[in-house]
Amino acid sequence: MNTPTRQKFVVGNWKMHSTTLEAEQLVNGVIHGLSVNNYVTVILCPPFPYLALVRDLLKGTQIALGAQNMYPEAEGAFTGEVSPTMLLDLGREYVILGHSERRHKLGESDSFINQKVECALAAGLNAILCVGETLEQRKANQTEAILDRQLTQGLANVPPEFLSQLSIAYEPVWAIGNALHHESPQQAHDALSLTRKKLSRICGEIRAQQMTLQYGGSVKPHNAAAFLGQPGLDGVLIGGASLKADQFVAIAKAAMGAMKAEVQPS
Ligand code: PEP
Repeated sequence: MNTPTRQKFVVGNWKMHSTTLEAEQLVNGVIHGLSVNNYVTVILCPPFPYLALVRDLLKGTQIALGAQNMYPEAEGAFTGEVSPTMLLDLGREYVILGHSERRHKLGESDSFINQKVECALAAGLNAILCVGETLEQRKANQTEAILDRQLTQGLANVPPEFLSQLSIAYEPVWAIGNALHHESPQQAHDALSLTRKKLSRICGEIRAQQMTLQYGGSVKPHNAAAFLGQPGLDGVLIGGASLKADQFVAIAKAAMGAMKAEVQPS
């Protein structure tokens, strides 16, 4: 049996969806479907108001809890914001930062995202930093330059000892929520190889090789195994399909299958 090289993730980003009842049904469906949870770290990221509910439902399971965002201060006069200290207090271990919807719909800059990454890691959270180019940037052959900028600026001044708490999600903006126009597994593989190469320049080859790199962009049950079978693709960040327990469970099972094949090659 081989030792897995990197931790594998399946992350459900619920975005701004669900009600109390829907959250309860969704979490119970995922728990029921994933009673055996091997090899893969499954993380649910509900909206802030359902945090405590989801935390309580997940007690005693192997499913982890994450947040979709945070403000880079421990406390203070920041009306409407949520701090890393509050997330830790509420039992969240993970936080998604720099999601393309926050970059492009809410105007977050690389330097603001960098403050969040530094603050989250220093507080003891595990951060998932999202990067990825828009369709215009892709068409203009700027993917490499965008990844370089988002990674270099997003990780500026992050102490090396915190990097084990960090993973990266490569999510081409045009592939998110766009089942008709998504990236092929081969394209995802190529972009993730580029991402790891950039990380190697930023934080050294060993840390880059240890880091979990996820892909996100309309991953569904029918294409999950093809993405997850790509070498160097260590997990998936799921939006739309994370809102349906059966779909999310099917993707998590595909990840477990890919991991099993890595650990126990036939
Ligand atoms: C996302 O929200 O990061 C995402 C990848 O969404 P979807 O799976 O719906 O494309």
